[in-house]
Amino acid sequence: MKKFPSLLAVVPLMVAASATAASTGSLNVEWTSGAPDCAAAAPPPLQVHGYNADTYILRQDPCASFEANFLYLLVGKERALLIDSGDVEDAAAMPLAETVMGLLPVIDDKPMPLLVAHTHGHRDHRRGDVQFESLPGVEVPPVELDALAVYFGFERWPEGEGEIDLGNRVIDVLLAPGHHPAHLVFHDRETGLLFTGDFLLPGRLMVDDAAAYRASAERLANFVRDREITHVLGGHVELDAGGGLYPRGASHHPNERRLELAKEDVLALPGHLASFNGFYASHENYVITNPVRNLMALAALVLVVLGLFGWGVRALLRYRRASR
Ligand SMILES: [Zn+2]
Ligand SMILES: [Zn+2]
Repeated sequence: MKKFPSLLAVVPLMVAASATAASTGSLNVEWTSGAPDCAAAAPPPLQVHGYNADTYILRQDPCASFEANFLYLLVGKERALLIDSGDVEDAAAMPLAETVMGLLPVIDDKPMPLLVAHTHGHRDHRRGDVQFESLPGVEVPPVELDALAVYFGFERWPEGEGEIDLGNRVIDVLLAPGHHPAHLVFHDRETGLLFTGDFLLPGRLMVDDAAAYRASAERLANFVRDREITHVLGGHVELDAGGGLYPRGASHHPNERRLELAKEDVLALPGHLASFNGFYASHENYVITNPVRNLMALAALVLVVLGLFGWGVRALLRYRRASR
């Protein structure tokens, strides 16, 4: 049951680009970056950066969860949107809901209504949902593809677009399967920010469905081409400033690369996906990888090595028998 049926509506594919300039904000912030020994000295679990008066970026410290997700809070005149709820269920370990509710303007003595939506259903982007479950005025849309399509009114998955009206602030909702079958990208018309989750980020672009990823990248490039896009903000940072990847599971991100990517990165993505070898490709601001294929290739290699080893042992035994 939707509490805010009026805020969601399907719009035609060709949306006229906004003629007004995007409002600005600041990304002048040093993100906490975990610690070599989190048990000895961990930074605060959740960092809040005010991008402007009604836009917040929240960062889950790598010690709170190695996923170190970035979450985004957009405040309209009537309601607010939180994009992703992060990887930490326990409010005592990371007080996400309390922090977000504290940032919301008060209307009629209550925090403004809140929609907690997700870029996609991977658990690190929605474990924090439980902290919002019993709070009045908070709605959490489904993450499963069919239910999500119904919720946002997408009739031509994955080609449709939707929008969320927060009250004098409209967020475009775009469909971007490829990393996850029900991945969404959000575009804020007010700030020109594009929120790309795990679809595009300074780190590993993990391909689940290569054809879908490429088609989504082409749709996204077409969407941004004639629009002012101020920054592209993903769900994680997994690269250091020198372009090296942090190991999976790292709770320390020394010398972390900037969070923001640019419109040019969106425009370059279709070409990079078109030339992807299916396993691994390194680019200036991200790597493209297919973990399942890499695992299968590794397994095949192990089988070949074991086979060669077995053949070698049998050959050696035959030689020893023959030479006795
Ligand atoms: Zn993901
Ligand atoms: Zn993720």
